[in-house]
Amino acid sequence: MKIGILGGGQLARMIALAGYPLGLKFIVLDPDVNAGAAGLSEHLLGAYDDADLLAELAEKADVVTYEFENVPAHVAEFLSSHTQVYPPAGALAVAQDRLLEKNFFKDLGIRTAPFAAIDSLADLEHAMGEIGYPAILKSRRMGYDGKGQVVIKSVDELAAAWQSMQGAASIVEGFVPFQREVSIIAARSPSGEIAYYPLSKNQHRGGILRVAECCTNDPEQTIAENYVSLLLEKLDYVGVIALELFDMNGELLANEFAPRVHNSGHWTIEGAETSQFENHLRAILDLPLGSTKPRGYAGMVNFIGGLADDTQLLSIPNAHLHLYDKAPRKGRKVAHATVRADSEKQYREALQLLANLALAVDES
Ligand code: ATP
Ligand code: MG
Ligand code: MG
Repeated sequence: MKIGILGGGQLARMIALAGYPLGLKFIVLDPDVNAGAAGLSEHLLGAYDDADLLAELAEKADVVTYEFENVPAHVAEFLSSHTQVYPPAGALAVAQDRLLEKNFFKDLGIRTAPFAAIDSLADLEHAMGEIGYPAILKSRRMGYDGKGQVVIKSVDELAAAWQSMQGAASIVEGFVPFQREVSIIAARSPSGEIAYYPLSKNQHRGGILRVAECCTNDPEQTIAENYVSLLLEKLDYVGVIALELFDMNGELLANEFAPRVHNSGHWTIEGAETSQFENHLRAILDLPLGSTKPRGYAGMVNFIGGLADDTQLLSIPNAHLHLYDKAPRKGRKVAHATVRADSEKQYREALQLLANLALAVDES
């Protein structure tokens, strides 16, 4: 079987690495000649909407999936009419527009921060009467790692905030003073079988995920599973999904979902019986899903903007290094390290060491 992947970055790379033991082959479509997964797979080099390349991908791949949610919707639709595409194009359409996404949560009865659609400064001035300060203005489309977002603290900042969006269709959201951020990762197969991972507890800085930790026996697990199951059923979803949630006094508010494998689930590579990458492949190939049980204490630290010394990282007990084969650049994820340990003490020590090293390279 050959799997086509739209996007050839680190997520595609990790999908391919999980697929080789299952005897799978991969073909990626990515405009970057140096894409991280390109070295591991057949590489179609060009734009995502290049008709000839899409026809070739549809011809060569038994199933097509994607590693990022900003694939143009018409591309997913074109591919769907020629080959199997999972997750379904409908999930992509909702996830790539924050307004559709927030209304989708609302229609399913899942709470969110208060929000409003913004297409002008007048819209923003009007909406802020309802939403109150502080708030966050976000572009509806194409944002990731906190890009295309601005926090608004007072009425004096409204005009500048709107100007920074450069006329892009946006939404404004009330700022949620959450106690913690969590995400739930789940996989659904075409037969409707669903596997849920334990919640990840996620720490962001500057809008970018820094640390994710597996939470076993979390009191919010059941409600998070209920929410994500509503999404999966409604979208007739196949593959891995990630739902990001704010925990406000024990109540969960949905932030966004990603129709793909997710950075907050990287700890599953060594930290769960079956990784999110393998379960994504199992799901899109309609194979039985693997156990999501954690293997002890597990977590992950991202390296952003640069990498600490390999030898130093590899000398940390219970740590596992994953390099993305990407040139370092400010704000760019270049690697992560997971920790898996039998005791909480060993786990905490390794995670702290890694977090300190990641912080040092990020600020240098
Ligand atoms: P990702 O890389 O996760 O796709 P993104 O650019 O799509 O990020 P969000 O997930 O919407 O952006 O926001 C990034 C981070 O900013 C959140 O994880 C959270 O820490 C903070 N944030 C976003 N919206 C809110 C909000 N309404 N209230 C409080 N914090 C928020
Ligand atoms: Mg996002
Ligand atoms: Mg997010």
